[in-house]
Amino acid sequence: MPNIIKVQNPATGELIQEVKVNSEDEIKQALKNGHESFKSWSKMNAHDRSKLIHAWSQKLKENKEEIAHIMTLENGKPIKESLGEIDYSASYLDWYAEEGKRVYGRTIPSHTESKRIIVTQQPVGLVAAITPWNFPGAMMARKAAPALAAGCTFIVKPAVETPLTTIKFIELAHEAGIPEHVIQCVNGSGKNVGKLFTDSDYVRKITFTGSTPVGKTLIRDSASTVKHISMELGGHAPLIIAEDADLDFAVKQTIATKFRNAGQTCVCANRILVHETIVGSFTEKFVAEAKKLKVGNGMEMETDIGPIINEKGYNKIVSQINNAVEKGAEVLVGNTYDADKEQGYFFVHPTVLKNVTTEMDIMHEETFGPVAPITSFKSIEEAVEIANATPYGLAAYFFTNNYQTGTYLHDNLDFGIIGWNDGSTSAAHAPFGGMKESGLGREGGQEGIEPYLETKYLSIGNL
Ligand code: ADP
Repeated sequence: MPNIIKVQNPATGELIQEVKVNSEDEIKQALKNGHESFKSWSKMNAHDRSKLIHAWSQKLKENKEEIAHIMTLENGKPIKESLGEIDYSASYLDWYAEEGKRVYGRTIPSHTESKRIIVTQQPVGLVAAITPWNFPGAMMARKAAPALAAGCTFIVKPAVETPLTTIKFIELAHEAGIPEHVIQCVNGSGKNVGKLFTDSDYVRKITFTGSTPVGKTLIRDSASTVKHISMELGGHAPLIIAEDADLDFAVKQTIATKFRNAGQTCVCANRILVHETIVGSFTEKFVAEAKKLKVGNGMEMETDIGPIINEKGYNKIVSQINNAVEKGAEVLVGNTYDADKEQGYFFVHPTVLKNVTTEMDIMHEETFGPVAPITSFKSIEEAVEIANATPYGLAAYFFTNNYQTGTYLHDNLDFGIIGWNDGSTSAAHAPFGGMKESGLGREGGQEGIEPYLETKYLSIGNL
């Protein structure tokens, strides 16, 4: 890899900034520094750590406009979504600043009068994070916040597409008073930095958000030093619309969950399954709404859909659409592009596909683009069967006002996050994470701090 990362604006292809790639020696030194600073950070009381994490959150809020600007420049997402992501990131900091004060232990009644049994929790040590480009702020915040609150030190490698938001976040953490070596950022290719992280004895935990194949590599490479691991990997969310659903509400929510971040999120609806009696009316309303979405440069306030992050992402989307059309899908809107490989920008207009079948790639592979494939089902049992026929198990959505249908769907869908009449489920106070090949561990909520803690059992005798 060259020793410079050229960060480009995906809406124009223009160079925004060059970022230095850290050398192997620099990264090793940073890991050592992170390990050494653990001694003091882990001993600081939780209330003082909390104040510093809240101060970091405050800095994010004060600099919201500037960071959102950086985020939209490097990621392309609409500015209104970037502004929302700063608030969302700050909400993780505030939640875990408080949650860190509630890392409780317990006592266990002993089997003899001469003993006491006490259980405490302590931070795991230096945490190394690898984060993706689709939420460059939030994916880091929801790892860093519980890590720091628990008393761990933290080092992050952001995606090469979007290092600038992370660099700004870390700069503000230091300005807020969090010591320099307690939270650090290093830059370089995923492969190189990932290997330095997994090989290091200093790193006690790897936390990763990204694709399932890379997650599997990191799990494998963490085995040699038996590290703790948290993995937020790919998804292929089904969205089921039952016969009795409130159609207008379902359409609105499906638009939101499908087209947020131009469809580039791991919880975006990837398969829309509609009961056969209402598939016609749902599709008509959905297409009408999809046509209203404005594609363009994220810097413009009225933009709903920004560019695709890069050529690789774009090629995958186009190939899934072509594959579906070859196999008999009908394009109701979209399948139109504004792309220039020379300049380096790739826009895909919102695309809705009808008559989609399970033989098509789009029904199995993550799309990460603004394409909505619609198919129908006859019974709720059949919908569950189609929905579960994937190695992924991150998010699933369904729309029904019938409590028996809803309960059945909740009980039988093999997914870690379920939205019942809800297309936007993420919140700092709720556990986010997947089953099956979508990952290990949870981020957010009470559960989100546990992966950063070790249990220590103390047995006191001779009393
Ligand atoms: P995507 O295909 O959506 O970019 P990736 O899983 O490739 O998802 O990337 C997510 C993050 O993982 C990025 O920070 C990237 O640099 C990093 N990464 C990519 N390949 C590897 C690897 N072999 N080892 C460790 N990290 C990697």
